Amino acid sequence: MIKRNKQVAKLKSGYLFPEINKRKQNFLINNPEAKLISLGIGDTTQPISSTVVDAFVGISKNLGTPEGYIGYGPEQGIELLRQKIANTFYKNLVNSEEIFVSDGAKCDIGRLQVLFGGEVSVAIQDPAYPVYIDGSIIQGIDKIHMMSCSFENGFFPDLNVLDRVDLIYICSPNNPTGAACTYSQLEKLVAYAKKNHSIIIFDAAYAGYIKGPNLPKTIYEIKGAEEVAIEIGSFSKLAGFTGIRLGWMVVPEALKYENGFSVKEDWNRIATTLFNGASIIAQYGGLAVLEEKGLKEVEKLVDFYLENARFLKTTLEQMGYEVFGGINAPYLWVHFPGKNSWEVFQELLEKAHIITTPGSGFGPAGEGFVRFSAYGKREDILLAIERLKKIKI
Ligand code: PLP
Repeated sequence: MIKRNKQVAKLKSGYLFPEINKRKQNFLINNPEAKLISLGIGDTTQPISSTVVDAFVGISKNLGTPEGYIGYGPEQGIELLRQKIANTFYKNLVNSEEIFVSDGAKCDIGRLQVLFGGEVSVAIQDPAYPVYIDGSIIQGIDKIHMMSCSFENGFFPDLNVLDRVDLIYICSPNNPTGAACTYSQLEKLVAYAKKNHSIIIFDAAYAGYIKGPNLPKTIYEIKGAEEVAIEIGSFSKLAGFTGIRLGWMVVPEALKYENGFSVKEDWNRIATTLFNGASIIAQYGGLAVLEEKGLKEVEKLVDFYLENARFLKTTLEQMGYEVFGGINAPYLWVHFPGKNSWEVFQELLEKAHIITTPGSGFGPAGEGFVRFSAYGKREDILLAIERLKKIKI
């Protein structure tokens, strides 16, 4: 009999969302009438804009004709889409050859981990989006350093105490804390990576939510970042593509291994081996998002979720809680001093019939916090606010 992959066996069983579900089901058994509101999982709720839907319909119809049929496309993505991504999000700080279109940020992170293999050391923010750790464990990495991110350090790691690592994962705007990195933080990060010959994996899946005028929208705004950073982007939360699946990765030409070999060349080799290109339909939708009209529509969509976040943040602050995030991010990171995250989760479930995500599920530094997601229909957000106002945690 085949032995179980010992790296997979090392993964903690998918604990967070199954446990949330279990508690939800138990609650519903005793309270079958309860109308639960989910502010837990970060999934979009609003319909895709009409410009984008028209593009899906147009390309789908073409695919049904002899002249319009397309089979496999380039693994790296349609050239026009690569150019539009480079122009729109990076103002040509990177070029289209450095953009690799994908089926989403999560899948990209997994393939990227294959690129670097199991011998590297990695540093990961605590709390963090779970894929960074679990994907590293699957690759056989055992040198994993957790970088504590709390309100004491502005949810950005103290790089002065970080020993040299090969890869540093940074997510900004951050899931779950909602913190968006400042120019000075990213300058320190790039300086660390240059000094230590490390590579930064910069997860910018929520970059579209950065509204502050003095915040970097991409790590490539920092001088020299192209020599040390890979950036990951996504249409999921920008355009409601969580189910459609479209993202991209920037692997700059200037990024090299210690022997001077191009990381981009290796990435091209890995990506074209493990991936056959994003869906043509999704890519045509992406092209429509990046047209003038499409960009205006997605801006409205992002503003809608940010308004949800603002309503929730105001309410929770008026109730006396310390609330982080929710300004340049769709997540609110709420502190409940003296309580543990699961206790608060349970109280919110029982007293307000609201599902949240316990902060401790994102790492030990998340203990005492609960994440509220601003993804929701407006009527649900307003109802959640009404209920919150009536309770005390
Ligand atoms: N990165 C972060 C920080 C996320 O929170 C998510 C999804 O929630 C992803 C990546 C995955 O995005 P995608 O839908 O593009 O795979």
